[in-house]
Amino acid sequence: MQASDSLMFITHRPDVEFVRGEGSWLYDAAGRRHLDFVQGWAVNCLGHAPGLIAEALAAQAARVINVSPAYHNAPMRDLAARLAGLSGLEKVFFANSGAEANEGAIKLARKWGARHRGGAFEIIAFEGGFHGRTLATMSASGKPQWEALYAPKVPGFRRLPINDLDAVRAAIGWNTAAVMLEPIQGESGVVPFADEFLRGLRALCDQAGLLLIYDEIQTGVGRTGRMFCWEHAGVRPDIMTLAKGLGGGVPLAALLAKAPVCCFEPGDQGGTFNGNPLMTAVGLAVVDAVAQPAFLARVRENGAYLAARLRALSAERGLGEVRGRGLLLALELGRPVGAALVEAALARGLLINAPRPACLRFMPALNVTREEIDAMLRLLREALTDIDRGPG
Ligand SMILES: *Cc1c(COP(=O)(O)O)cnc(C)c1O
Repeated sequence: MQASDSLMFITHRPDVEFVRGEGSWLYDAAGRRHLDFVQGWAVNCLGHAPGLIAEALAAQAARVINVSPAYHNAPMRDLAARLAGLSGLEKVFFANSGAEANEGAIKLARKWGARHRGGAFEIIAFEGGFHGRTLATMSASGKPQWEALYAPKVPGFRRLPINDLDAVRAAIGWNTAAVMLEPIQGESGVVPFADEFLRGLRALCDQAGLLLIYDEIQTGVGRTGRMFCWEHAGVRPDIMTLAKGLGGGVPLAALLAKAPVCCFEPGDQGGTFNGNPLMTAVGLAVVDAVAQPAFLARVRENGAYLAARLRALSAERGLGEVRGRGLLLALELGRPVGAALVEAALARGLLINAPRPACLRFMPALNVTREEIDAMLRLLREALTDIDRGPG
């Protein structure tokens, strides 16, 4: 029996164990280095083991690690103020995972609906959406493979096709409280909502008096070249959730909302680890680094560079569309070779992700260099050649 046999089986993991990381590179137990364009699923926005996070952790750990969410602490207060200032959403609640932040968003929308919209509770969500793995967030998600799982699902969600404003208009009823979406659907393969649709949806929510909830867990904190993805279309949501990049690798999530929406009362919402100073101190360091205009400009430049290089590769090898924004990009492969390609790339020392059978997703560190992007393209070309050649 291997030591890992004690782990509950939830996924196939390749036969490699990583022991050290530095920027865009991970080193396995055999000392071999791998170029990481997964980065913990778009989490490590500053790459592996950034000094900034190590220092924030060490300094805060030496000061105080945990005081209970029932007391004030300075990093929690300062990070909330920073996020409120950057987003214009005045109120912040911290959580430990994206799913937990989304649960909070759903609860807030339901309480708001009960109080301000005559008992409305339904949340309109979208096909292909991904909001997490708790029961309510799985029920909100539009992942076809989950339809039959964990019945009975949490009721009160309705799913519509993306980019269809008429469908949303027709679905709004007395019991509708909110509309919830990822501005770019990450897990379903980097599928963006059209800016036109997002602007129309904002207007529709305003007319109908509904809350607009953006799940920016994957797209937020600089990933698309703006601090928040909603800045591209210029529509601010009423509620927004952040996680992944917010902690730069430590578990930290946030639920943000406009002040008039906030109707939690003492006892309605909480959590033992929420807003603990160790994690929020890291969040503060990460947000300070990412929110610099020069940092975000570089994400946009390197995102455009990566997209251009992927388009050139696509043209050269007869592959499909390149889509996404900033450093959240996908390449359509035109055939279901994603898994084989991920495996061939791993053998060559490149970590990439295939969210769907015929699609690759790229989510490197936001401080990735041109040289690393070039190195990734070289390894990807080799991996493509490997799978064309076939085994042996
Ligand atoms: C990853 C993700 C989640 C879930 O976050 P966890 O931290 O895994 O709970 C929710 N929504 C989106 C858009 C995500 O990408």
